[in-house]
Amino acid sequence: AKGEGRNNVQFYSPRMDENADKRLLLETSLRKALDNREFRVYYQPKVDIVTKKITAMEALIRWEHPLLGLVSPGEFIPLAEETGLIIPIGEWVLRAACMQNRQWLRQGLPQMRVAVNLSGYQFQQKNLLETIRGILGETGLSADLLELEITESVIMQNPDFAVSVLNQLRDLGVHISIDDFGTGYSSLAHLKRFSVNTLKIDKSFVRDVEINSADAAITTAIIAMGNSLNLKVIAEGVETEGQLSFLSDNNCDEVQGYLFSTPMPADKVAGFMREYGGM
Ligand code: C2E
Ligand code: CA
Ligand code: CA
Ligand code: CA
Repeated sequence: AKGEGRNNVQFYSPRMDENADKRLLLETSLRKALDNREFRVYYQPKVDIVTKKITAMEALIRWEHPLLGLVSPGEFIPLAEETGLIIPIGEWVLRAACMQNRQWLRQGLPQMRVAVNLSGYQFQQKNLLETIRGILGETGLSADLLELEITESVIMQNPDFAVSVLNQLRDLGVHISIDDFGTGYSSLAHLKRFSVNTLKIDKSFVRDVEINSADAAITTAIIAMGNSLNLKVIAEGVETEGQLSFLSDNNCDEVQGYLFSTPMPADKVAGFMREYGGM
């Protein structure tokens, strides 16, 4: 049935319009995806490099489109941002992740944070604080078990504005990480103003950290910067034992990546924790 649908679209439209058609199809269906319950949240663990304990699970959204199958967030998040749909979708992820973390606690899993990616559009919303406070109240999750990941480039778009929002989030008691760190040009001077807990080294630096001396230098510099400002440093995209050794030798605090686990559906997490955490 999938093949048929695609052929029909090709039949009616010249090749030139294919991209526009796909975009329109995506946009139309994105508007219905929440109501149709087509979104899922997958979870990927963050691991303490010394104790190997899991500190958090990062929520990563998945879209199961009825015709197109799995659409990657890299494809639909930008569209959600352009159309404003990121606001209800982002709120849905926040609520789903907080509810899920409560559920894991009730099931007797060890305490860990749930980390949710925040779009720049959400970060700029006037009612962001109210929304988060509301969801915490509604789900009964304690604020320190929620972590927000905000990219360095979103923060650096307007550092003064970011300082004030980050302060308010800190006062609420949630944990804050700067995502994709190293790609967004913040300096030590900027960093010391931001009330955040963690720097997350972008996976583009981690990939070749063993063989590329520039990537190695950037990675060790970020770790040193984090240490000097009393921030935790986590590396994402860790796939090999070699990368892990490098990060461990250079005192990185936490790691995340396929070496430990790919993102998994919520119902796989309990089993994973039992095996991994030796419960
Ligand atoms: P991100 O926040 O930087 O997430 C890391 C991405 O790297 C994820 O891709 C993850 O699946 C992938 N990844 C994890 N471990 C490895 C590894 O060892 N190697 C490699 N090569 N990749 C790894 P994903 O799930 O496709 O998400 C892509 C991006 O979409 C995210 O990047 C984030 O910017 C955005 N995103 C995902 N979920 C949400 C969400 O709920 N809200 C918002 N606003 N953005 C989201
Ligand atoms: Ca992230
Ligand atoms: Ca990232
Ligand atoms: Ca990224």
